[in-house]
Amino acid sequence: MICLYNTLTKTKELINPIKPNLVTIYICGVTTYDLCHLGHGRTFVAFDIIIRHIRHCGYKVRYIRNITDIDDKVIYKAVKVGVQCKFLSKSFIVEMHKDFKLVNVAQPNHEPCTTKTIRHIIDYVYMLIKKRYAYLNTNGEVIYSIKTTNSYGLLSRQAAIYLNVNKLKNFNNKRTSNDFVLWKRPKPGEPSWDSPWGIGRPGWHIECSAINHKYLASHFDIHGGGLDLIFPHHENELTQTTSCFDGSCVRIWMHTGILILNKEKMSKSLENSIKLRDVFSSYDAETIRALYITSHYRSPLSFSLKKVKEAVTSLKRLYTSLRTTRFRLNVALKETKGIKEEMVERFINAMNDDFNTPKAFSILFYMSKRINYLKHRNLILASNLASNLRSLGSRLGLLSYGSIDLMYIQETILTKAKIRIDDIEKLIKKRNLARSNKQWHLSDNIRAKLIDKSIVLEDVKDNTIWNASLNLQ
Ligand SMILES: [Zn+2]
Repeated sequence: MICLYNTLTKTKELINPIKPNLVTIYICGVTTYDLCHLGHGRTFVAFDIIIRHIRHCGYKVRYIRNITDIDDKVIYKAVKVGVQCKFLSKSFIVEMHKDFKLVNVAQPNHEPCTTKTIRHIIDYVYMLIKKRYAYLNTNGEVIYSIKTTNSYGLLSRQAAIYLNVNKLKNFNNKRTSNDFVLWKRPKPGEPSWDSPWGIGRPGWHIECSAINHKYLASHFDIHGGGLDLIFPHHENELTQTTSCFDGSCVRIWMHTGILILNKEKMSKSLENSIKLRDVFSSYDAETIRALYITSHYRSPLSFSLKKVKEAVTSLKRLYTSLRTTRFRLNVALKETKGIKEEMVERFINAMNDDFNTPKAFSILFYMSKRINYLKHRNLILASNLASNLRSLGSRLGLLSYGSIDLMYIQETILTKAKIRIDDIEKLIKKRNLARSNKQWHLSDNIRAKLIDKSIVLEDVKDNTIWNASLNLQ
């Protein structure tokens, strides 16, 4: 059974979905005022792997990820660059989708924008006012009153701070400093919508509650996001949804660790972010995934070029062990049955333990060592195990270069190197003859000539196998 860490209870809990066989997930999406950075990549790849594993375990997943297309940051940026908010957001949504496609993350079932769910947000605010959890301040804004609940601070464990600030009065037209805005008054020229409380726009926290209520009803299984969203965003969400419905709406709160660059958290607002597409100009998506996977999703991850290069090396090791094996030899063979079962079990156990990707990743290397050992003894068994390695790799979104891709890559390399398969085979024959005559210099020269054309030779038992080199950089 899958165990996952619940930020609210600070314990690992069984997945145990509300509806058997269906896991409902809401993840806070991107605010569209800039390009996605590596920190976004980390969060969404982590949830992609989590969702892949949940699906592999036989559950259906209903996955909702919102887009915050109206917000203070969007307005500020739109004014700065001199475009309307809707055009700014639209252009960054297009770019976000390009980035997410590149990094190959799971597509949500629905991806609603804030501006398309205004009616639901207004209904939600209305419900909070009716239940006396929210009030209208002298600015004409709707404010959530945290004094109406005794559970504020549960998620972020900040009850003591809350008690202190609660003593403050008339704080910026709010009854306490932690009271938060549900419906804002717009400044002149800002986008706004009609509401029972006059024209305005939604606050950030109410947006997510209204959207997850619309798509997942009042109670759902997993609510996730980056660690920096715990307070105030998720704390405020928790309190407003608990006010509306009986008990907490979310079974399990999940948070991904921060990405660190030069000892500082990487974020758009700190202006120290590295854009995903800048990294993709030098490295492929699997390399970036491999980098993320080496840390547990809840741990902080320090980004450095050294770590990217280590990820490149790791992937090369896995692809090298797959090289020369035959594709799709995933048949039952009694010789590999034991090791395949053991590896699959260890992999699943690692993933079931709160998605322990570093451990799951290490199992792939154990398999690749076995494949390398077998390749020189029995290619059928090695290929059989290689199919299994690919299958486990795919659960992490890795080793996705299939036979067709590899054939295509191979053809491309041969065309680029201006060499034909016949020529390669003639050179191999010539080299084997040289080796049998102990003409080592000639044999080495032929190997070097082929390497120059990106052709790598591997001597396996009495045979020599060639491959067009797959360069992942
Ligand atoms: Zn949110």
